[in-house]
Amino acid sequence: MWSRGKTTIAIGTLFLLASLAYAAPDPFLEARRRMVEEQIKARGITDPRVLQAMLKVPRHLFVDRKYWPEAYNDYPLPIGYGQTISQPYIVALMTENLALRPGDRVLEIGTGSGYQAAILAELTDKVYTIEIIPPLAQAAQKRLQQLGYTQVQVKIGDGYLGWPEHQPFDAIIVTAAPDHVPPPLIRQLKEKGRMVIPVGPPGLVQTLWKISKVRGELQFTNLGQVLFVPLVRQWRGK
Ligand code: SAH
Repeated sequence: MWSRGKTTIAIGTLFLLASLAYAAPDPFLEARRRMVEEQIKARGITDPRVLQAMLKVPRHLFVDRKYWPEAYNDYPLPIGYGQTISQPYIVALMTENLALRPGDRVLEIGTGSGYQAAILAELTDKVYTIEIIPPLAQAAQKRLQQLGYTQVQVKIGDGYLGWPEHQPFDAIIVTAAPDHVPPPLIRQLKEKGRMVIPVGPPGLVQTLWKISKVRGELQFTNLGQVLFVPLVRQWRGK
């Protein structure tokens, strides 16, 4: 009797702890709400699916713990190897212009932390991403798995060449800046496909382009001036 009572209390405590853990408010939810309202909606992003994805993905988990307090601020953050996770607004702007529908096949060049890939994975289940720095690719892959984005396929390599085995793509997003639009990426873009890509000289201001393929012709829309890390053809690090 006594021991049954103790068991009941023990089980009760377990349940209480479990439900507390489950219901524990995400300490960054409020920061994410503010980010969406003040940086993203305020600058004209309206696609409800994009806004929902930006609200949902825990951006802080894509940067080192020392940057958590800044994870939802209006600027890029370092992710190691001289690379950065893009400013939240730029992620939202690029994503909105991809106009992804569920089932679309999307290719990202420049996996970095995997944050942009997670946002894409909220919008479609066919996400392919290429990163040229092996340790970044490996860390991103592990992080995406742990967060449940198991449908994202990460490859180590030069994204300039695209990913021929999985082409053609409904959408391509390039998050490092080349000085010209890579022809392989144009070839791997489907008819009616959309590409969002910064193009310009390394280290200087670049132009963010949306490129649509319409009856085989390319249509360019200027989305503004941006500053991305350069797209490189080879990684010379350790
Ligand atoms: N989208 C990332 C941020 C990208 S930073 C995120 O959400 O965190 C740009 C990334 O592009 C860097 O990690 C850099 O290593 C990578 N990169 C540069 N040139 C590349 C190339 N040719 N192919 C693939 N990745 C490249």
